[in-house]
Formats: sequence, C-alpha cells, structure tokens
Amino acid sequence: MTATAPREEQLWSRCAGCASLLYRKRLRRNLDVCPECGEHARLGAPERLRQLVDPGSLGLMPDQLPETDPIDFVDVLPYPHRLSAARASTGLSEAVVCATATIGGHPAVLAVMDFRFLGGSLGCAVGELITRAAERALDDRVPLILITASGGARMQEGALSLMQMATVSQAIAALREAGLLTVSVLTDPTYGGVAASFATNTDLVLAESGARMGFAGPRVIRQVTGRALPEGFQSADVLLRHGQVDMVVQRRSLRGRLAALLAATRAARPTRPPVPRQEPAPRRERLADAAPAGGDTPAVRDAWDTVRLARHPGRPTTLDYLDSVFDGFLELHGDRLGGDCPAVVGGVARLADRHVMVIGHQKGHTTAELVARNFGMASPAGHRKALRLMRLAARLGLPVITLVDTPGADPGVSAEEQGQAAAIAENILTLTVLPTPVLAVITGEGGSGGALALAVADRVLMLENAVYSVISPEGCAAILWPDRSAAPQAARALRLTAPDLCRLGVVDEVVPEPSTAAHDDPAETAHRLRAALLSNLLPLLDVPPAMLVRLRRQRFRRFGMARAGARAGAR
Ligand SMILES: [Zn+2]
Repeated sequence: MTATAPREEQLWSRCAGCASLLYRKRLRRNLDVCPECGEHARLGAPERLRQLVDPGSLGLMPDQLPETDPIDFVDVLPYPHRLSAARASTGLSEAVVCATATIGGHPAVLAVMDFRFLGGSLGCAVGELITRAAERALDDRVPLILITASGGARMQEGALSLMQMATVSQAIAALREAGLLTVSVLTDPTYGGVAASFATNTDLVLAESGARMGFAGPRVIRQVTGRALPEGFQSADVLLRHGQVDMVVQRRSLRGRLAALLAATRAARPTRPPVPRQEPAPRRERLADAAPAGGDTPAVRDAWDTVRLARHPGRPTTLDYLDSVFDGFLELHGDRLGGDCPAVVGGVARLADRHVMVIGHQKGHTTAELVARNFGMASPAGHRKALRLMRLAARLGLPVITLVDTPGADPGVSAEEQGQAAAIAENILTLTVLPTPVLAVITGEGGSGGALALAVADRVLMLENAVYSVISPEGCAAILWPDRSAAPQAARALRLTAPDLCRLGVVDEVVPEPSTAAHDDPAETAHRLRAALLSNLLPLLDVPPAMLVRLRRQRFRRFGMARAGARAGAR
C-alpha cells in the first residue's frame, strides 16, 4: 500500500494491487490484506509479531549490538548515515526482530525480518541476531520460526555479509541435528543471500500469499536473458508448482497453520539435555586498524585492476589445475536428479600421494569454451552435483578441495524454476557439518552465494589476484552509485581483494602469483598452488572429523561477532 497525500496518510491507503482507496483502520483490522482484491501489503516486524503470537506471550530478545562499519564502506553516503536513517524511520535497531513467544500455546523462538530497514538486508548484526535466536531455540529445545523479507546480503559489509549465510546455516544445522523443527515463512520479497540460505534450508518452507522468492531478482534476470519473464515467475503459487515450498498460506490463516505445525511436531520432539553452546572465537580486527602485512608483501594493486586480472581469459581454469596440480583426475558427472551442469566439474584425483575429491567451477579460455561452460555459472544441477560429490567424499573418507572461480550462480529463468536458492542453501548447510577436511581456494572470481556454495571450508585460500565479493562491482555500482561506471570505486569500497579479505579473516592465506599474474606463468602458479594445498591439507588430515566440524563452526560463528568486536577495537 502506498500512502496518498501526506495529511491523509494516517487515514487512507491506496492498495498496490487494485488501487482502491482503503480506510487505514479497516485495512489494519483485515491484517493489511486488501478486502477488495486480496493483495497482501508488506508488514513491519513488530506488526507481524503482533499478528502471529499469543497475546501476552511475547518476550523480545536483546537487539543492541555494539555498532560499527566493518569495512569503512562509503558510496555516495557513508554507511553509518544510511544506518542512522533506517533506525530513525523504522524505530528498529536492525533489520530483524527476535523474540520468544507461544503460538496457539506452543513455545517457539521467532526471528522476523523487516524489509523497511535497508531492504531487510543481511549484515553481520542481522546474522548475529538470528544466530542468537537459533541458539536460544536450541537451549530452550523449542522450534525456530524465521519470517523472511530481504533483498539479500548487505553490500555495505562486503564479504562479511556473505559469511552470515554460513553462520546462520550452521545454527540451523545444529537445530536439525538436535531434532528441533525449523520453519521459514517467505514473505514478499525474499531474495539473494537470504533466499539462498536460511529461507530455504529449514525443514519446512511456507510462503505467504503473494510472496516472491528467488536467488536472482527479476530485474537482473531480464537484463541477463533479455526476455520477458513468465507469468507469475518466482511467485508463491509458481514456487509451489515447482516443488519449492510446502504450502502457500493466506495471512489470515498463517497463525493457525503455524500452531498446527508446532502441535503436530511437538509429540515427536526429543527431550535430550541441551547441547552446550560454543563460545564464539575472539573478535577479528577492524580492517582499518589492522597492522600492515609483513615485509614480503607484494606491491599493492588497485582493486579494479585486480578484478580485471581475476577475469582474464588466460587465467588458469579448474581443469587446467586438475591437469597441472593434481594427478589421475577421474571426472564424475551428474546430479542424479536429471542434469549434469558443465559449469561445475568434480571427481577423484591425487594430490602428491593422497586421494582427494576435487570440485570446482569451470570457465574457459575461448568464447566457445566459455559459452559451453555457461561462463562458470552453476545451475541448480551443478550445485547438486557438487553436493553429491561432497557427501560421497565424506562417506569414503576423502578430503574435499574446492576451486572457486565463478561470476556467480546462474541467474536464468530455468535455474530459478529448478530451485537455485535452495540448491545453494543446501550446499552451504551441508558444508558446515561435512565430516571430512574441506579446503577451498578462490582461484579467480569468487562471486557471491554461488562462490560460497563451494567455499564453506576449514581453510580458505585465495590466489593473490583473485577477488571474492558479496556482489559484483558493476552490480554494486548500479545500486548505490548513480551509474555502473562507478564500478572501479565500488571495487575499492567492497574490500574484495585477497590481502583485504585476509585481514578480515574471511581468507586464511594468500597464495602469491608470479610477478605479473597467473596467466603469464601458469606452471609456476600451479607449483605454488600445489605447495599451498599440501601445507594446508596435511595438518587437517590428523584432526578427527567431529573436531574438524566443531572448529569449522567456530570459524564461521565468529563472523557474526566481527561487527560487535570491531567497535571495541576502534575505541
Ligand atoms: Zn486491492
């Protein structure tokens, strides 16, 4: 609903669906659903909670986190100014409100996102608050209900936002292991990193009537495909038809439906004692405060030049490395569900005398190769092939090595229809608990959720001229700057280079490239990569799988605290 004239704002609203002028109080009584056409207007988190929970049962969880700007992001406005404006206009401290409550007498923990606050974007604080809500559900042994509304990960917090997809997913995995129900309710709109993680990797996924959900947004897909989108694309009813949600629920039925689901699963709920919670690891240093790297630091290159090197067509691909770094690669194909994605290759190989499972994105050097490999943009079938190979590796006791080089996941119409968001989400969740060593290397472009789907690992390495980012510099520029020509500025603001990400703790080690770049001396690059893989993999082989998973969880759990710790560091 959009407001009419300012003076009338309190009294009347115009329906976004049928343009009827509606009396505000009548609309509110009808749960903000248009009585004329059934359009479900967006709800803020406080109103959503009021509609869903039993009166008097609401206990708001603390939402005050020490605040900062972890990568000192500035577009046309400094990030702290955007945050203050969002706070002033919503009265909320962040884009999520978490609470304990009962619904139909059944206790649950709820995390409700609010789209009005910076588009419901997922940053470190939002990730931390939702993770705490999940931990509270685990402690209390009650179900977790997530009400999602988000444009995706928060660009202004760079790759640290991307890490939140893993942080929250592993909290969901812990509830899954403990036999506690997780439910997400998709509300309009749910996109990007939120769709590709906790909105779809819960036990049950409900969609509110009229909600739209997808990995790529309609504007991006139209731009990429140059075609009009099918009728109802990404809408709740179409998602249901494509098998991506359990049910579509009218707002007036939502509370009753949740109560019934909680009741149905309550009988089966185990009553084991609570699992002790892991303390988050110590904070990371704020980027600007971090000490400069040691004496043999390579010359500092402009971030935009690095982006161009990372995309250089001569840069070695995953198949090149499989040939030069590994021996005896046996490629395994197929997702066993109907597809084999050429943008992802995987199979068993030897590294020195060890057998390993290698999975990576495949680009190409010529236009024909790039087209045949869909430019390294994985379809859902590609993510599901990777998932199958990861699980196979764990069963066989093989370590997993992933080579990440993708502009992002395939943003096409059929990718969306086949469940791109859920496919990425399932990989991220599975990697957080995979009981075998996982070593990831960002070799070229680490593009957003598509990269993270192969990069939740015990150790994350990055080639010196690779980039890893929550969004492409062009995409970021188009949203936050007046136009796409600001891509070089966006590249600098996003902190997407290997040295920056190493300082932020997103990456553990930078693998130096030969003097100009990898494409000038692929043999030397391969030699250095092999040495780095061996020195990082061998210590992991001695760690028992349960311990590996625990340490991996700590590695990703600490990113939620990055924001909280940074202020302490700054003061
Ligand atoms: Zn209407």
